[in-house]
Amino acid sequence: MDLYEYQGKELFQRVGIPVSEGRLATTPGEARQAAEVLGGPVVVKAQVLTGGRGKAGGVKLARTAHEAEEHAKSIIGLDIKGHVVKRLWVERASDIAKEYYLSLTFDRGAKQPLFMFTTQGGIEIEQVAEESPDALVKLHVDPLEGFHPWQARRLVYGAGVADPSEQKQIAAIVGRLYEAFVRFDAMLCEINPLIVTPDGTVKALDSKFTVDDNALYRQPDVAEMRDRDAADPLEALAREKLVTYVKLDGEVGVLGNGAGLTMSTVDVVTFAGGRPADFCDLGGGGDAQGVVDALEVITRDPQVKAIFFNIFGGITRCDEVAKGVLQAVAQMGIVLPIVVRLDGTNADEGRRILAEAAPPNLHVEPTMLEAARKAVELSGAGA
Ligand code: GDP
Ligand code: MN
Repeated sequence: MDLYEYQGKELFQRVGIPVSEGRLATTPGEARQAAEVLGGPVVVKAQVLTGGRGKAGGVKLARTAHEAEEHAKSIIGLDIKGHVVKRLWVERASDIAKEYYLSLTFDRGAKQPLFMFTTQGGIEIEQVAEESPDALVKLHVDPLEGFHPWQARRLVYGAGVADPSEQKQIAAIVGRLYEAFVRFDAMLCEINPLIVTPDGTVKALDSKFTVDDNALYRQPDVAEMRDRDAADPLEALAREKLVTYVKLDGEVGVLGNGAGLTMSTVDVVTFAGGRPADFCDLGGGGDAQGVVDALEVITRDPQVKAIFFNIFGGITRCDEVAKGVLQAVAQMGIVLPIVVRLDGTNADEGRRILAEAAPPNLHVEPTMLEAARKAVELSGAGA
C-alpha cells in the first residue's frame, strides 16, 4: 500500500525525522486558510500516488495566502500520470542549499533491506545510478543483526558529506528511517530530496512510503490511511471479497489455487503467446462461494476475453472444485469462454462431472500447456 507524501511524513514525524509543518487542503479556500495559519511563504503540493509531481506542475511555491489559493486552483484536478489531484499538502516553504537522496528498500536478491544514499538528490535516482554510479552509496542491513550506527556513518562518509553537523544529522535520520521501516512494516521509505537549509538544518522535503499489504492487519492506523477512491476499483472489490487478486494488463483471466501454481499459470499463458489479465489465487479452498467471488472480480475486468482455471487438487478435491465451478458459472451466467485444467486428488471424478454437465463455453483440457494454448486461442491472441 502506497502512502501519500503527507501520510509518509506523519510516520517520519513519529520516529523523529524532521519535516516541515503543514496542513491538508481539498479546496482552494482551504489552501488559503492553511497558508494563513502557517504564515509566510508556503509550498502547495499535489498529493497523488506517483512521483514527478514537481515536473508536472504539481508543486508550487506561494509567497502569500492569496497565491496559495491561486496555485491550489490550478493544481486541483490536474492529471499527473493518470492520477487526478484531489488533495493538497500545504507546508511551510523551506530554503534549500543542498538536495540529497536517502532511501531504504528491500533488496529481494540479497534478502536484506538496502540503504541508498547520495548527495545528488532532487533528481530521479535511476538517473544518478546510470550517470554517476559512484556517487550512489549502497549498504545492506542484516535484519537479524539489526541496524548499527556505524552503518549510517559509512553511508554519510561514503557519499562524501564533509560538514560534521550535516554528518551527525543525516546519520540520525538514517537510524530513524530504519526504525520507521521496521516499525511500520515498510517495503520502501524514500526521501528525495533530503535537504540542507542555508542555516545547516537537514530535513525530509518529500516522502515516498510503501507499507506491506500483508502486514496491515497489525498496522491498524496505517491501514486507516488507505484512500479507497484512489485504489484500483477491481483490486478494491477483491479486497472486500477477500480474494487474492492482482490486476495485470492482458486478456486471459487467470485463476489458480495456491500462489505457486497461479504464478506458473501466468507464465504458461505468456509462454503460449497470450497475456494474463490478472493473478488470482483461490488459496486452499475451492468451494463454490470462493469460486464465485473470484470469478466476479475477474469478469468485472472488461479486458478479459477468456478465463483459464488451473486447479491442482491436494487437500482441495477436484470433484468439489468441479461442482464449485459449475455452480459459479450457472449462478453468474458467465458467457466468456472458460478453460479448465484439473489435476490431483479425484481429478478423474472432477473431469467426469464437468464433461457431463458443462455448458458449451466451458472447455476441459488435460494438461496445463494445452489448457493455456486453448485459453490464449479463445482470448483472440496468439496463433
Ligand atoms: P516530486 O517532484 O513528486 O518528487 O515532489 P517533491 O516533493 O520532491 O518536490 C519537487 C521539487 O520541488 C523538490 O525537489 C524541490 O526542488 C522543490 N520543492 C519542494 N518543496 C520545496 C520548498 O519548500 N522550497 C523550495 N524552494 N523548493 C521546494
Ligand atoms: Mn521528490
